[in-house]
Amino acid sequence: MGLGIKKGDTVAVLAGKEKGKKGRIISVLTDKAGKGGKVLVEKLNIIKRHTKPSKTHEQGGIIEKEGPIHASNVMLVCPKCGARTKIAAHMQADGGKLRVCKKCKEVID
Ligand SMILES: [Zn+2]
Repeated sequence: MGLGIKKGDTVAVLAGKEKGKKGRIISVLTDKAGKGGKVLVEKLNIIKRHTKPSKTHEQGGIIEKEGPIHASNVMLVCPKCGARTKIAAHMQADGGKLRVCKKCKEVID
């Protein structure tokens, strides 16, 4: 996903049932084509999964876990200025890239 959102970022959800909520990215998932990823956001878009009894879970039951949210439906919340922002790339002399907030121009990492 290039200079997109990363694990540990705080994002705001722009659409869907969690619209308006904020949370921390716990995982970034890329699709088979390697683009248009989805993200798991801590405690958001919780889905319930019924599990059958097994050797490790004798009772079976319901597991609650975060469901994927399309990356285009979330926006980074800048850790510096607190605004919802897009990420700009800042090229470094050594060829590396840093992520920069488009609003406050601060380097995010
Ligand atoms: Zn900012």
